[in-house]
Parts: sequence; structure tokens; C-alpha cells
Amino acid sequence: GVSGLQIAYVSGQEALQEPAPAHCFTSKDLSALVTPLTSSSKFRGLDILLTSQWPRGVWHYGNTPVNTKSCGSSSIAVLADKLKPRYHFAALEGAHYERLPYRNHVVLQENAQHVSRFIALATVGNPAKKKYLYAFNIVPMKNMDPTELVKQPQDVTENPYRRPAKDKKEAPKPAFSTEEEEPAQQFFFDLGRKQDGNARGRGRKRPSDWEDRGRHRQEQHRQPRHPQPSGPCWFCLASPQVEKHLVISIGTHCYLALAKGALTPRHVLILPIGHYQSVVELSSEVVEEMEKYKSSLRNLYKSKGERCVVFERNYRSQHLQLQVVPVPLDRCTTEDIKEAFMVQAQEQRMEMMEIPQHTDLKQIAPPGTPYFYVELDSGEKLFYRIQKHFPLQFGREVLASEPLLNIPTRADWKECKQTREEEEQSCKQLRDDFQPYDFSWED
Ligand SMILES: [Zn+2]
Repeated sequence: GVSGLQIAYVSGQEALQEPAPAHCFTSKDLSALVTPLTSSSKFRGLDILLTSQWPRGVWHYGNTPVNTKSCGSSSIAVLADKLKPRYHFAALEGAHYERLPYRNHVVLQENAQHVSRFIALATVGNPAKKKYLYAFNIVPMKNMDPTELVKQPQDVTENPYRRPAKDKKEAPKPAFSTEEEEPAQQFFFDLGRKQDGNARGRGRKRPSDWEDRGRHRQEQHRQPRHPQPSGPCWFCLASPQVEKHLVISIGTHCYLALAKGALTPRHVLILPIGHYQSVVELSSEVVEEMEKYKSSLRNLYKSKGERCVVFERNYRSQHLQLQVVPVPLDRCTTEDIKEAFMVQAQEQRMEMMEIPQHTDLKQIAPPGTPYFYVELDSGEKLFYRIQKHFPLQFGREVLASEPLLNIPTRADWKECKQTREEEEQSCKQLRDDFQPYDFSWED
């Protein structure tokens, strides 16, 4: 146009059969539209894309629309991914939906590009008065300062059209898939509940001890089969090396254990039951349960006047250990904690960076990439891609340092080793404290 805005549009719907009816398009028609544009090395994206249909799966990684999750066309999704419109408008579903902006580049792997915004509008004059007009000012991208153009808003998310293959399994499993037919793995640990008499019922149906619970579960549903290590592992729940007396809670995919040589009494680890090296290798259901444990711990800490710091070191470790450490609220603010990590990383010439809250770690650290990662109670995240060397105790050192917990001598876990009896005592206390927040009993 005269103003220099680049706009493309696709009307009609994707054909469900060949040959395509007159009001429909095929993926071939879309390729014919896209190829001349994207074949130029100068092509960066479009200002505006208008389509009748929604791009399928646009809600992934973003805020969820109502009742329109399975709508839309996959070819439109491919089109939007290739054309990288700054604004993509669609209609047809009669719904108003504004998705969080999403990225068009992979963080730390590609140069920053502009973000895309998807906006669906309802039908003009609809009786429910859903939004059908969207007014905005736009400067054509070709007239914009390049750094201004690629600015990333705080709430930017991953690209919904570029999901790792692992996440794409949406189809329900067949009812009798062989995966489900494997013998169930059960964990029978006596976590000392018998001695407690189990008198403190909180209105929750609760089997009398772990062994009963194991049987109880076996009757109800099969446990998933978890990946096994090739050699001995201290953290695989099924392995003989695991220190079972440190276990606090066992879920379906994850378990909670007292950290050996804990920094403070409620310093725990969230671990996958199966043998996984890092968070980026987990399937979405394991991640989901890990998040549940995090949120339960946050609530426990809150009741004790503490805030929650989580960190992971994916370097020289075979089995993922998510470290969860409480810090007293009156001792330091979230900002203090963030600063301590940033400053102490800088002192060691490590470039720690803040990453947007909605970032999927998988996108910045593909499996196999060593990294160190911190999550603060505000949801803020710090990330460091480990280059050559990394001080193995870095997370503990920062938390133990003078500006934070101020217990520098405890930075080395070997200095904090407890006797077996002390460990058992700490665990018993922690199990009691955690029990009201433990979702794993709510079967
Ligand atoms: Zn393991």
C-alpha cells in the first residue's frame, strides 16, 4: 500500500477434499502465496495477515481461549509461522481472543526478531457483545528502527507453531496400548507413619501406611513405567542405591526427598522417579507434577514465613535434582536473591541472564546442553549456559553467602552431613510439616 504496510490475506476455508470447492483453499494455494515472499533473503515478515480461519494450535504456550482449542487449520498455522506477521487477525469462530505475543526466533540460537500477535474477533454486532473491533496504530516495519522492531515484551511466549515433537502427542492412547500393559512399578516404603498412629486425619481418605497405599494404588490404576539407568544411580527411586529414609513424598512421576547435607531444615529435592538427566528431557506430565510439588512447597514455606528458591544444575549429573531451598521472608527480598545470583555469577565471569517467565527451557537449552537455572518465588527465571567449567556448589554458595542466608560454612554439603539418626529425625519432621500440602494422598 501507499503507507508501506505489507498485508496479506487468505479468505475461505481449507478444503477437506480434492478438488477444492470454490470457496476453499489447499495447502498448495498457500505455498504459492508464501514462496515468492519468503524466497527473498530480505524477507523478515509481514505487518498484517488476515485469515478467515484460525491457525490450529495457536494457543500453545499462551493464554487459553474458550472452547476453541481444537478449531482452525494446520495450513494456516504453517502460513503464519512462515510469514511472521506482526499482527494476525482471524474470525470465523465468533469468539474474541487475544493471544500473548509470541517469538519468531529461538532465544540464544537465532538473532532476535519481531514478535507476532494473534487476535481473533467475534462477528460484527453479535448479541453477546463480544469484541469485534480492534483499533491500533502501526508503523510499517520497513520504516522502523531495527532495535525497536525486535523489542521483546515481558509477556512474550514461545512460538506456538514450533513445538518439539515430544509435546505434540495429543491423540489419546489406545485403550490397550502395550505401554500400559507393562508390569506396574510399585514403591513400598515405610515412611514412619505407623508409629504416628495416623490420628491426625484431616478429613482426607488416607491409607494407613505406604505399603497399604501401594496396594491401594495397584488396585486403582497402573503406575507408569519409568526409564531405567544403565548403571547404578543414587536417585532412581527403584534403584538399590537410593537412600529411602530421605524420601518425603512419592507421586506418580516424581518424588520429594530431604537434601543430603541440607542447607536449612526444609531444603528438599524434587526428583523424577525415572532416570532423566534434566528438566528439558521430561515429558509434559512429569513437568506438570514437578510444578505441583513446587507449588505445594511454596505453600508450606509461606506458612513458615519463607520464600522459595529453586535451582537446577544440569552439569556433571546423571539424574535430575531440582533443589528447593526456603529463605526467610524477613531475611531478604526476592530482589536481594536475584542480585546475589547475578553479582556472584559476574564475579566468576559467568553471564547469567534473566529469561522471560513464559520461556520454555527446551527452546533455549536443547537436551544435552549443560546449564544452571534459578527460579525465584516471583516466577522470575535466571539462566546460565555452562561454558567450560562450573563451580559445582554454585547454587549453595550463593544462598549460603552473607547477603542471603549468611551461613557461608554450610556452602559445602559435606560440611553439613548428618548422622543417619539425625537424617531420620529431620525427615520425620518434614513429612509431618509437608503432609497437609501433599497432593499425592488425594487419590
Ligand atoms: Zn537415575
